[in-house]
Amino acid sequence: VLRTGAERGVRWNRLTWDRRPTIVRPTLVAADHRKLMELLDRGVAAHLEFIVENRFRQGPTKLYNVVADIPGAEKPGEYVLVGGHLDSWDGATGAIDDGSGCVTAMEAARLLMAVGARPKRTIRFVLWSGEEQGLLGSRAYVSRHKEELPKISAYLNHDSGTNHVSGINCTGAMKADMERVFQGVNTIDAEKPFKITETNGLRGGGSDHASFLRAGVPAFMWRLSGNHDYGHIWHTQYDHYDQAVEPYQRHSSMVIAIGALGLANLDHLLSREKMAAPSGARWRSPARLLGVEMDGMTITKVLPDSAAARARFAPGDKILRFEGKEVSDPRSLFRALFTTRGKGKAVVLRNGKEVELDLEVRFRGRRE
Ligand SMILES: [Zn+2]
Repeated sequence: VLRTGAERGVRWNRLTWDRRPTIVRPTLVAADHRKLMELLDRGVAAHLEFIVENRFRQGPTKLYNVVADIPGAEKPGEYVLVGGHLDSWDGATGAIDDGSGCVTAMEAARLLMAVGARPKRTIRFVLWSGEEQGLLGSRAYVSRHKEELPKISAYLNHDSGTNHVSGINCTGAMKADMERVFQGVNTIDAEKPFKITETNGLRGGGSDHASFLRAGVPAFMWRLSGNHDYGHIWHTQYDHYDQAVEPYQRHSSMVIAIGALGLANLDHLLSREKMAAPSGARWRSPARLLGVEMDGMTITKVLPDSAAARARFAPGDKILRFEGKEVSDPRSLFRALFTTRGKGKAVVLRNGKEVELDLEVRFRGRRE
């Protein structure tokens, strides 16, 4: 049974899901699977023991968002929202996804109360439920609080692990306000710089800020940086309290508190101008457009007959700029590619030197 299972690559306890058709596959985390394969390769009998405690309960199950306010002193009917999601994946307690986001919301609230902050607008801290099943809590909030939506200046969402908050994307019309709000955060810790990046639209992604963006409310997902390997822990049985990185969590909480207070104290609500990216800019993975595999912005593999191969990209190249635009993550690379219709000069870092490459990526003939 074991050998068959391992050969078939049956991986247990990490649930992955395929979009088409919707299949839920039980899987074992990669490290355990590797260990097992290693034993079997050496002909060592492996003995596995599972504790499987499944219960099926007829739904629906009631879920609760947890909400707490610091009421606004001047404009209590206008809001800045701060949050993360309270539910988590099975297999572990969800310390990282998304306990890390819940506790920064709670700690930001505590910090603001401790310093006696009196925000002009109400700062509302929300721990959403049902995020993993499809943003249920935040979607329900948006649909039940329609009258409130035009008065929400911003929603700040923390849901991608325990690394420290290191930046935020915003539109051009919001930039001056964002710079004002976050001007102090770079003095907290010189080793944890914060960057505001102007983008040509705010994008949803798969967390609760997407529910607000769809309703036209400025909503943001923090950019995080640090040494913690979120991908290894996320949605696995390793997602326990020992994974949380305390100095990062402390730092993030401070930045979030400062951001929320600053936004709540602006003279006006954040601009809603040009929040949506120009139509047609539907997200596509830049790695796929280029025909490469990437680790961060570093290319690990160039696929044959790809745009990257034609442009002579090489494994180890780190993509720095495209058509003069700095690209620091897949999203900014996608935007740079999209706004130039995929044709232009890419600058990569190769063996410590900048190398310029002529790249042409085809957006047409898409297959997803
Ligand atoms: Zn999450």
